Amino acid sequence: MHQAPYPNLFTPIHVGHLELPNRILMGSMHTGLEEEKDGMERLARFYAERARGGASLIVTGGISPNLEGALGPNGARMQRKRHARKHRIITEAVHAEGGKILMQILHGGRYSYHPFNVAPSAIKAPINRFKPRKLSILGIRRTIQAYVRSARLAKEAGYDGIEIMGSEGYLINQFIAKETNKRTDEYGGCFQNRMRFPIEIIQGVRSEVGNDFAIIYRLSMLDLMSEGSDWQEVVMLAKAVEKAGADAINTGIGWHEARIPTIATLVPRGGFTFVTRKLMGEVGVPLITTNRLNTPEACENALESGCADMVSMARPFLADPEIVNKAALGMPQAINTCIGCNQACLDHIFKRKVASCLVNPRASHEHKWPLNARAINPIRVAVVGAGPAGLSAATEMARLGHEVTLYENQSEIGGQFNLAKRIPGKQEFYETLRYYRHLLDQLQVKVKLNTEATAAELRTFDHVILASGVKPRPWHIEGLEGSSVVDYIDVINQSVTVGKRVIIIGAGGIGFDVADFLLHDQNDSFYAKWGIDQSLEKRGGLNKPEAAHPAREIHLFQRSEGKVGAGLGKTTGWIHRLNLKMSNVQMHSGVTYHQIADDRLIYTENEKQHALDFDHIVVCAGQVPYHPLSGQLESLNVPYTLIGGAKNARKLDAQRAILEGMRAAYALSPWSRN
Ligand code: NAP
Ligand code: SF4
Repeated sequence: MHQAPYPNLFTPIHVGHLELPNRILMGSMHTGLEEEKDGMERLARFYAERARGGASLIVTGGISPNLEGALGPNGARMQRKRHARKHRIITEAVHAEGGKILMQILHGGRYSYHPFNVAPSAIKAPINRFKPRKLSILGIRRTIQAYVRSARLAKEAGYDGIEIMGSEGYLINQFIAKETNKRTDEYGGCFQNRMRFPIEIIQGVRSEVGNDFAIIYRLSMLDLMSEGSDWQEVVMLAKAVEKAGADAINTGIGWHEARIPTIATLVPRGGFTFVTRKLMGEVGVPLITTNRLNTPEACENALESGCADMVSMARPFLADPEIVNKAALGMPQAINTCIGCNQACLDHIFKRKVASCLVNPRASHEHKWPLNARAINPIRVAVVGAGPAGLSAATEMARLGHEVTLYENQSEIGGQFNLAKRIPGKQEFYETLRYYRHLLDQLQVKVKLNTEATAAELRTFDHVILASGVKPRPWHIEGLEGSSVVDYIDVINQSVTVGKRVIIIGAGGIGFDVADFLLHDQNDSFYAKWGIDQSLEKRGGLNKPEAAHPAREIHLFQRSEGKVGAGLGKTTGWIHRLNLKMSNVQMHSGVTYHQIADDRLIYTENEKQHALDFDHIVVCAGQVPYHPLSGQLESLNVPYTLIGGAKNARKLDAQRAILEGMRAAYALSPWSRN
């Protein structure tokens, strides 16, 4: 008999009045479309595509109940009837696909990035330059009413319920934690008083909206803040939340200002499900677990091992809108897996850009590159190079109906991904390669490995895409000849044995990766290293981080002035910097290199000349484009397009490479919707 794939995931469940066919929640994600001019139409398409892909219960990005709570000056609100009217298009689109959708109500409190922000106490957040105004008792009552009104309007807009955001350090969390609530009235002081605010919100909402409207409460189960809740308080709050009328409780992990990674790639898959598990049995409503759940296997394991009643995934739905349907069909190999990089989703939001996805640039841009597009006149195309840009171009062109041949001179596809996947905490790139292998096969792309494409062969195609990538930028210094200077490729491929004293030239993403690679100890525990109390006995879930015992002494150099690693991603750069700092990596900026003499690097820093002994220097000085065939194709009049690093190696990353592959495919010839 056919064994159903992921039996726990696909067991039906009730959340309040909602009957759901599976236990997967598409968690809340701010996309930035909420504030765009045509945002409601685009959001409707975005959510509808995910409902069509099997998401049976979706939670929207955070919407504020009032002006003070909006995340930015133009942040999305559900405060007036006109707001509710605008949201109708979203709920109708999701319902038309058979899905259900909840609106998340999020009041930013002291995280709201504008001068009208408010909080239980006038204490500025370290991640916001605007100091909040302390709410008066009247202000608190008005804010509770704003939540209630917002829930009623959400119901009018056709939503099936709401999620009340009570975690991640936003307003409700600020009331609950001693750290941010110094009040002496009935909303401050003892825990009973500090939790009064969310409980009155839930009670108010429930009596306003009735029982045919789902309420999920997102409860901060692990604040990762020194004055955060202790476990007894978490349990007390969960019981009170249930009693007040919530239909399910979702898990919140870590405040945004906490300096502990909670969703980045280096967090082990399902790394925080143990927190939700501890609450199992304490309440009768379903518990939802979350954070770094990115595959059906990880989700199934969480349910099977009794960590929760449901799982929540957010970013994996950006990476693959059909993740649920593919899991239901038992086709995990067909899933485009979220790699937890944050580069095109959260980093975009912090730059006030629309969120998309590194591995799926179509996310939030469904209208530009529809999945049902087909080339009007299919042609024969050759793609040279099976790195991220080439893989993206080849698969998108094949999807459009072109006949595609992909040339790769190495024995495997992947290009720079094959280096990235070896970096500690970046193993998710194996999934991206597995996905591309599946697509190439499914779309019948002819893949020629170990094959150096020649101009003579390429001239037989209608068009050539050159995605031949990059070469490491050579580094010139007096005394280089015969010294122990190697490039990053040799280090990551382990074709050299690197000594104990290492100088890294270049402090971009690859310099950081190489330092991490050389320091990594596979016996390190993520929890011990970052000071997370897995026993959940300590207030806020914090332990003292374990002292590092780095196996090497590493110096990271750059010529530019200013902070080393300043160009790394907004939401992950701090993790990379802190990670190296904990391993005593010495950072040098504003450096001038002079020469290598007697296994010493002679350089100037802060106007003083220094000499530093080394066993190896690793050059990570960026890359230069590599496209040896372009000249020959030009002289043979073969039409070609350069993409990715072969076109421009400056600031090249996988995000740009994959995006350029997609753009090139759609720009190659006219297409229409099938
Ligand atoms: P990069 O970010 O451009 O960094 C190159 C480094 O080399 C810079 O620190 C630069 O600093 C130095 N440099 C440049 N020319 C030099 C020269 N002639 N001599 C000596 N030093 C020189 O390039 P990358 O590190 O190779 O990374 C490539 C791309 O991948 C980047 O876009 C990066 O963001 C991305 N990436 C990101 C991550 C991540 O976010 N974790 C990881 C890997 C890769 P000075 O010019 O100041 O000396
Ligand atoms: Fe996941 Fe990275 Fe895509 Fe964000 S950009 S959804 S983290 S793969």
